[in-house]
Amino acid sequence: RQIYDQFGHEGLRGTGFRGFTDFNDIFSSFGDIFENFFGFGTVKDRRERPRKGNDLRYDMQLSLEDAFSGKEEEITFKRWAACEVCNGSGITPGKEAGICATCQGNGTIIRSQGFFQLQTTCPTCNGQGKIITDPCLKCKGQGKIQIKRVLNLKIPPGIDTGSQLRIRGEGEAGDYGGPNGDLFVVMHVKEHPFFSREGDNLFCELPISFIQAALGDSIKIPVIGEETLHEIRIPQGTQPGDVISIQEMGMPSLSTGKRGQLFIKFIVRIPKKLNRRQKELLEEFLAAEGIKGADKIGRLFRAK
Ligand SMILES: [Zn+2]
Ligand SMILES: [Zn+2]
Repeated sequence: RQIYDQFGHEGLRGTGFRGFTDFNDIFSSFGDIFENFFGFGTVKDRRERPRKGNDLRYDMQLSLEDAFSGKEEEITFKRWAACEVCNGSGITPGKEAGICATCQGNGTIIRSQGFFQLQTTCPTCNGQGKIITDPCLKCKGQGKIQIKRVLNLKIPPGIDTGSQLRIRGEGEAGDYGGPNGDLFVVMHVKEHPFFSREGDNLFCELPISFIQAALGDSIKIPVIGEETLHEIRIPQGTQPGDVISIQEMGMPSLSTGKRGQLFIKFIVRIPKKLNRRQKELLEEFLAAEGIKGADKIGRLFRAK
């Protein structure tokens, strides 16, 4: 119990917020580069076609215990939503958008360069063909406002670092009636002081004395997801670095729920100091083995 408390709970609770990354930003700016680069060939007509909103990313920190058992977690974040006053149009209700004078509402303009006539996106209305003359007061003509969202997430057991939860429709508002983007919750499972993890398997190192290794013993260790300690057997004659595995003591599989294995590696400790009694006993042991003083090294070589 004491060991579990020490290893199991130390500074592992709670989650961290690392902020958002806008997935679509990179790609939409690429789009602009290509558009300008290839001139008339790829001019986009940006008039009111529905466009899906940007996806959002939320980074969540979990302890290994939480990843084992799953948990419910409330997250709070801000995102852009369609303005409810103007329904996302950006125009004061009852008013209408004016036709862009530069392009006469086409969204594109023709430029003459030498022999060529180039069609480009209208810079005044940014290709939309319309200009807002009476902007909505609530959203200042943007058609979107930032809202605070509180979501209760159900995190299933077996989550690992890099696992993603996708929550449809919780990304940013779309344009012109397009659907909202999605929210991606990206999981980060924190390192555990006692267990390390590979897939559904857990690994730990267990220090034992050389006496326990030689004689065999049983010892209680903390197990992930259990409040009580679990008794394991150290086999007689255990060598330094020997590994035993225990079935179904690892992490649950995210897809099947079946638990992986727990691998325990024995670290055999040799005492650096002995009291007189201990020294006597070991000398006696040495004598029982039939090894004496100067003979030690020779015996070791001959044994090979
Ligand atoms: Zn508005
Ligand atoms: Zn225009």
